[in-house]
Amino acid sequence: MKVKECTVPRIILKLDALQGRLDPLHVKIPLIKDEWKKRLAGHKGEVSLEYVLGFLDPDEYVQLHGVRLKVDGIYFQIDTLILSRKTILVMEVKNFAGTIYFDRVFNQLIQTKDGQELSFPDPLIQVSQQVNQLTKWLRQHHFPAIPIHGFVVISNDKTLIKTSSDYKFLSSKVFHKQLLPTKVSQLSNLIKAEVYTDKEVKRLIIMIKKKHEEANPPVLEKFKISTKEILPGVICTTCKFRPLIRMHGTWYCPKCKSSDKEGHLRALLDYELLIGPTLTNLEFRRFLNLRSRHVSLRLLKSLNLPTTGTQKGTTYNLTPLTKLSNK
Ligand SMILES: [Zn+2]
Repeated sequence: MKVKECTVPRIILKLDALQGRLDPLHVKIPLIKDEWKKRLAGHKGEVSLEYVLGFLDPDEYVQLHGVRLKVDGIYFQIDTLILSRKTILVMEVKNFAGTIYFDRVFNQLIQTKDGQELSFPDPLIQVSQQVNQLTKWLRQHHFPAIPIHGFVVISNDKTLIKTSSDYKFLSSKVFHKQLLPTKVSQLSNLIKAEVYTDKEVKRLIIMIKKKHEEANPPVLEKFKISTKEILPGVICTTCKFRPLIRMHGTWYCPKCKSSDKEGHLRALLDYELLIGPTLTNLEFRRFLNLRSRHVSLRLLKSLNLPTTGTQKGTTYNLTPLTKLSNK
């Protein structure tokens, strides 16, 4: 049973929005594109795991994706968490391409791709830290101790996994995603005792969902881009022209002649992702390139957003719109 979906992480939405709202010749575009590609590949790897996990017995296993919790003031993120009455499985999903070599001596992972060698921190260390943090988190939230096992799942079928001949143990901890259902049931057969009741499993799901906090990395800060560099206006979904013109209750593209009734919603989602969750009528009018204060105010009011302050000082909260962005 899947109780927490693998949704598009905010960082990907932010990088998407940023690419669309910078001058196409902006010097940071290649850097942003690289980061976006890397994040997207990682996300696709996690999504592909959902399909494989569909083979697990839904009455026995509960899947939670992209869980981010805090213990002692420090956040830890678990790509995929599988919960049963007997055990909790913590999965770190990696989408390395080419050949990966687990170097036990230096605790590093060496990737060979296109004739180039790159070194990464050992994901097994990462996953064992997550296991420790989750153990602590469960204790702090008064859940009985339960066996927790960490795995590294390689989402790319073509990746060649290698290690030294004396490190056979690795194959019980690192494997391709296709092996996941087999590994899970093998482990489950080894463990006889049920630690949690159905009620405790349910309580844990509720607690994880309640305490989960989605990461919200400040993307402009990361790339040292100022809000002044963010280009305003509604962008045409057909031809990418910007800014569209507000005409007869819709957004009209002077270039490809298409119209878009919801153009302002997409622009506001970009605003929320890149600039912030609140704005005034003046900021709304500037960002949407509207000449008339009245048209602007009418459009803004039609969204029924929560507000604070009064009259010209009214601030509108865009958070309710973000539910639309994660479809
Ligand atoms: Zn157009």
